[in-house]
Amino acid sequence: MNRGPRSLVTGGAGFLGSHLCDRLIQEGHEVICIDNLITGDMDHVAHLLGHEGFRFIKYDVTEYLYVEGPLNYILHFASPASPVDYQRLPIQTLKVGSLGTHKALGLAKAKGARLLLASTSEVYGDPQVHPQPESYWGHVNPVGPRGVYDEAKRFAEAMTMAYHRYHGVDTRIARIFNTFGPRMRPHDGRVVSNFLMQALAGRPLTVYGDGRQTRSFCFVSDMVEGLFRLLMSSEVEPVNLGNPVERSIRDLVAAVEAILGRRLDVTYNPLPQDDPRVRQPDITRARERLGWEAKVDLEAGLRETIPYFQEKGVGA
Ligand code: UDP
Repeated sequence: MNRGPRSLVTGGAGFLGSHLCDRLIQEGHEVICIDNLITGDMDHVAHLLGHEGFRFIKYDVTEYLYVEGPLNYILHFASPASPVDYQRLPIQTLKVGSLGTHKALGLAKAKGARLLLASTSEVYGDPQVHPQPESYWGHVNPVGPRGVYDEAKRFAEAMTMAYHRYHGVDTRIARIFNTFGPRMRPHDGRVVSNFLMQALAGRPLTVYGDGRQTRSFCFVSDMVEGLFRLLMSSEVEPVNLGNPVERSIRDLVAAVEAILGRRLDVTYNPLPQDDPRVRQPDITRARERLGWEAKVDLEAGLRETIPYFQEKGVGA
């Protein structure tokens, strides 16, 4: 059987991982999806299970990793990614970012495969440079509650560059900023899923702090396009991927109200420790080197996401 490239997606049953599996299958790749399902969900890849080019393996990528046959691409997307999840699973988060990245890079070296690391805007911590270019080294509290994710991803970037420099592994690093869309877990704990689930269930929206902190929200279809372009590019330096339109959390409440066409109650909860005050990607590099920028605005993305949460069960 003469198929296209053979790709492995770790965390392939997760939010971004499963959308990437879809995209790779569409591009004619044979896809091996690995996930230990601690935050992934088989429902996200159920539609691919009968596809001849798709295989699912339930496995923990922090264990010795071996796959039969050739591999062209490894997309390392395994990790809890919501602050609620990574603080609930701190050791697993540290292990998958460190040991898991080491195993994925070892496999890439053995197979001569290109590896794309899913890194994060969290490498910038609570940033003192705004917006954040890739050249900014960040402002991270290593011993704070978010340190388990931030430092794991920073280590993962360092390990990726070490394999590139010392073993010649062909690597790509995506610094992914806040992304939302269908297949976010309803109880994932992130702001978009919380607000939509709360609004649909008629519960007050939980704003943390005064709601003046900002994020820049990227719709998942834009992110997948950016990730695919980066995978196919020759760009070894980290690349920020995100929608640069910065919104406060209060703006997000207003956007959800406008779309649902009604006022929503809000309760104010304490701001979590080390919660970044601002976040906005400088996407000059992605624009220049990948010819990419986000196209879907927050409101359009929310409209596409609401039916998914409605289907998942309001009040669940
Ligand atoms: N947030 C909020 N209410 C919620 C969940 C989150 O106000 O129910 C805030 C959170 O404090 C942060 C922002 O929304 O300032 C984005 O949080 P999220 O967990 O989505 O991701 P982060 O960007 O912090 O990783």
